[in-house]
Amino acid sequence: MHEDGNYPEIREAVRKLCERFPGEYWRALDRDMTYPAEFVEALTQDGYLAVLIPEEYGGSGLPLSAAAAILEEVQRAGCNGGACHAQMYTMGTVLRHGSEEQKRKYLPEIAAGRLRLQAFGVTEPTSGTDTSSLKTVARRDGDHFVVNGQKIWTSRAEHSDLMLLLARTTPLDQVGKRTDGLSVLLVDMREARGNGLTIRPIRTMMNHATTEVFFDDLRVPAENLIGEEGRGFRYILSGMNAERILIAAECVGDAKWFIEKAVGYARERIVFGRPIGQNQGVQFPIAKAYANMRAAELMVSEALRLYEAGQNPGAEANMAKMLAADASFEAANAAIQTHGGFGFAEEYDVERKFRETRLYQVAPISTNLILAYLAEHVLGLPRSY
Ligand SMILES: Cc1cc2nc3c(=O)[nH]c(=O)nc-3n(C[C@H](O)[C@H](O)[C@H](O)COP(=O)(O)OP(=O)(O)OC[C@H]3O[C@@H](n4cnc5c(N)ncnc54)[C@H](O)[C@@H]3O)c2cc1C
Repeated sequence: MHEDGNYPEIREAVRKLCERFPGEYWRALDRDMTYPAEFVEALTQDGYLAVLIPEEYGGSGLPLSAAAAILEEVQRAGCNGGACHAQMYTMGTVLRHGSEEQKRKYLPEIAAGRLRLQAFGVTEPTSGTDTSSLKTVARRDGDHFVVNGQKIWTSRAEHSDLMLLLARTTPLDQVGKRTDGLSVLLVDMREARGNGLTIRPIRTMMNHATTEVFFDDLRVPAENLIGEEGRGFRYILSGMNAERILIAAECVGDAKWFIEKAVGYARERIVFGRPIGQNQGVQFPIAKAYANMRAAELMVSEALRLYEAGQNPGAEANMAKMLAADASFEAANAAIQTHGGFGFAEEYDVERKFRETRLYQVAPISTNLILAYLAEHVLGLPRSY
């Protein structure tokens, strides 16, 4: 199968690391819905989660395409980067909008793996995708903010020391634009748990360590405000291209894993005295999935190229994420079909990866909202919502 040429050494090293975490490892965790602590520790120890942190703050200062290559290889090896991908990019908000003091305080610790910043509290149960309607409030009280409200789908909150939280600091009826009056706070969950912060796990169709989080008069030091008060929505938006491109790279990795699995099985499985892969009815869905994966991969490269040239590739990042999520799910479907009944058996890992990759049609942004973005911002059609 086609090999991507960029960062061959990093890719090779990630593949080697992933060999220590085979299907049995993930199956056992999946059964009990447990966090892949050893896997995350291995990635942390080898510095992979710190590649985007500049060297002056202790990271390796590599471009986004290096992070994309790492995550693609993780998925391609059958592992699941969803457990820790946010540790790579959530710090971007602190890096871009934090004060020098905040950067010096947090980034070296994050780079060293001593501090985990991989919880991102934006989505709420009542407002959903309509972020500017969120209800969590942070009221200024002396040198603190007092936070009340609830977040949902705050993934990895139980496995993170810090949370990047988006809350309303100025009521909706007192702002000119709905997206004004929202602020970003860095919440130290180690101190906060049991002191106004409650985290409850949510069981989902795949092992994703996601939670709901409740704030009840939680006091957050005002010095933990990132950037200017009221401008938080822009800060969160500014990190979304990177997140979407990286998730797209993960989906490309998933698609490659499914295609390789399907091809391997189609060659070996003998029915009616010949390999099933000799039948066009078996070959074509896999070949189609391959073509769509390659097209998505090119869009990921294009989004990365523009991002690294300092542009703001909103359309390409969104398209890359949508096309790659579609390609990975198409490949997942082809892999299940190729495996026949065995596609449903845990020991082949296909059903687990199928469940895991399905998420990316909905999170971190659902397909409809990507299409709405393209319709409005690229095609110039009227805003539909
Ligand atoms: C496992 C998991 C992990 C997650 N991790 C995080 C996390 O760490 N942090 C975080 O903040 N969030 C997280 N999310 C939340 C995720 O980003 C949202 O689920 C997603 O953005 C969709 O929002 P919603 O669930 O509120 O759906 P809703 O906004 O209620 O939408 C429901 C459906 O309606 C469609 N829809 C809504 N409005 C429109 C419209 N105007 N036009 C067309 N269709 C529309 C949507 O596309 C969707 O299909 C996670 C979600 C999951 C499931």
